[in-house]
Parts: sequence; C-alpha cells; structure tokens
Amino acid sequence: MSSFHIRWRRESRGRVSILLFTAILCGFQNNPVSAREEGSSFTDAVVAYQDRRLDDALRHAKKAVVENPNHVDAHFLLGELYYLKQDLTKAKESWQKALKLAPSRQDIRQRVAQLEVESKIEQDLARSDTHPFVVRFAEEGLPVDIGSLRQTLRDVYREVGQQFGYFPEHPITVILYPEGAFEQIRKAAHQLGGMYDGKIRLPVPQERNSRPVFAELKRVLWHEYTHAVVQDLSKGGCPIWLNEGLATLQESRVWEISLERFHQAVESDRLYAWDQFWNQPYKPQELHLQYQQAYLMAAYLVKRWGWSRMVSLLKLLGQGYSIQDAIRREYKTDPALVEKAWIAWVKRNY
Ligand SMILES: [Zn+2]
Repeated sequence: MSSFHIRWRRESRGRVSILLFTAILCGFQNNPVSAREEGSSFTDAVVAYQDRRLDDALRHAKKAVVENPNHVDAHFLLGELYYLKQDLTKAKESWQKALKLAPSRQDIRQRVAQLEVESKIEQDLARSDTHPFVVRFAEEGLPVDIGSLRQTLRDVYREVGQQFGYFPEHPITVILYPEGAFEQIRKAAHQLGGMYDGKIRLPVPQERNSRPVFAELKRVLWHEYTHAVVQDLSKGGCPIWLNEGLATLQESRVWEISLERFHQAVESDRLYAWDQFWNQPYKPQELHLQYQQAYLMAAYLVKRWGWSRMVSLLKLLGQGYSIQDAIRREYKTDPALVEKAWIAWVKRNY
C-alpha cells in the first residue's frame, strides 16, 4: 500500500511555498503554490493548510478569493480544501476559476481532469459520516454493515491515535470503491490493498486468500489511517519507508505480518543498508522485502525509544530535518550505531 506524500516546503525569509500532492511513486504532478504576500488571507490559508488546521485554512481561503478574485493560487488552494472534504462540486468550481485565470497551468488542468474521473465514480456513492471521517461507500456489494464500518473507523481513530497521541479534528475522507472502480482511480502500478493520497481510498473488501472480509477491512484501515496520521505529524516530510514501516507496524496489531522475504534476505545477506533505504522507490520485485524490512526498522525504533519520541522524530522531519539528523537529534545517537544494534536485534528475535 503506498502513500502519496504531500510535501510541504517552507523557505526562508518569510516566503512560503507548498507542493500539493507530490506523489513519489508514479509521477503525479507537483503543484507548487507560492505565497509572497505577507499577512494576507492567502498566506494565512497556506500556513493553516501546512499545519493541518483545515477548517481555518478553508475560512482564510474563502476570504482570500473575495479580497482578490484574480488570485489563481487562492482559488487553487480553496479547491483543494473542498476536495479534501469531498465537496467535489465546489472543488471543481474553484479549480475551473483558477484555470480560467491561468489557462497555461498544467498542474491545475490535470487536477480538473482527475476530478472528472473521480466524480463519475464517486457521485453515486452513499454517505455516512462519523467524526472526523467523511465516509463514501458503494452500498451495493458492501459485505459489512454500515454500523460495523462506522464502529471500525472510530476504533482505528482511537487505537492508532492513542499510540501517536494525536487525534485529528479536520475531516478525513474515506472512500470505499465498488469492485473494479478502485483500479480506475488508483495511481500506482503495483497491487494495493488501499491508498492514502490525502484521502483514504480502498476497494470494498472482498474475501481474498482466505482472509475474512472484516479482517481485510481492518488491516487496510489500520495501515492507511496511519499514513494520514504520519502525514499530519511530519507535514509530509517522512521518508517513504519509515512511513510504510509505521503503517505496517500499526497493521500488525490487527493482522500477522509475514516475514518470509525478510528471513530469506537475512540468510543471503541482502538487507538494505539503512542509509540508502529510507527514500528508496517502491520496487515491484522487491516490494515484500521492502515492506518487511521497513516494518522491523520501525518496530525497533519504537521498541527502543517509545511512541512519544517517534512522534518527536516525525515532527523534526516536518521541520525539514533529514532522517539521519532527526535520529541524531531525537535519539542522541549515530544512525550507523542504531543500524548495527537493529541487525543484532532482528537476528536475535526474528
Ligand atoms: Zn502504505
């Protein structure tokens, strides 16, 4: 399961720029939005957006387009905020206004085109929100009842939230696609159980490989919801494989993770060196090993230093520290020593 990391970048001297939806995996377009105006509603909106205060961001962005109806990026950001809370009609209106003002902006054009595809699939889905989740689902063929689905969402919010000490108040959209539709909107090349790209997207769970439907739903939700939490805490600055490792670690609370490929790699001395691993792209033929190694790396960091310091580490990543510097700073030790201790630990325990 991949995560499409939304990257935020703060530049010096009060200039703020953000990149919406930098998909590491499959070349989804980067959308730079720059704010040069100090103290404007637009800048306030951008800062709130970066801090994941999405309701504040929406309020400021609405004001920004009134104050300056020709501000392309204000319309673009406003559309993004509607999009995240699944108000697709208003998202489309805002993006079309932005596109009318700046017809050459391919990034906006692409979002409008993608939205067309998603709208067709998502417009007929049933809705059933449970705070803070905005839930859309295919009623037909839903193999679990909606009450259980809502309860499961409240469980994941509480259980994952307790470990990270974080309970988002902003809307988090969860879409359960009917069979076949998930494949049309997903942007990744490999087999996915679900996806997080600012929204949690998953196919309506089916019994597969003898996994019961409900277990499959929980497994995917625990994994993808963790991406949403990591995204917020690290402001999009978490390296791919720490992100996947933490998501798999949470997944392991409701599902047993296979370590077959990892064991083979240990025997043939083919583990990834940490230094090169963090930002490795997803390699289809190595995917199982990558997930399994990432899972055990995250498990070790959390076992040794606990969840609250993992959260501090994620926040350092959000401030722009590299993973190596964040480890040095938070854990007061050399990453190379941590790696050595980890290898000894996995050989002893796995
Ligand atoms: Zn994932």
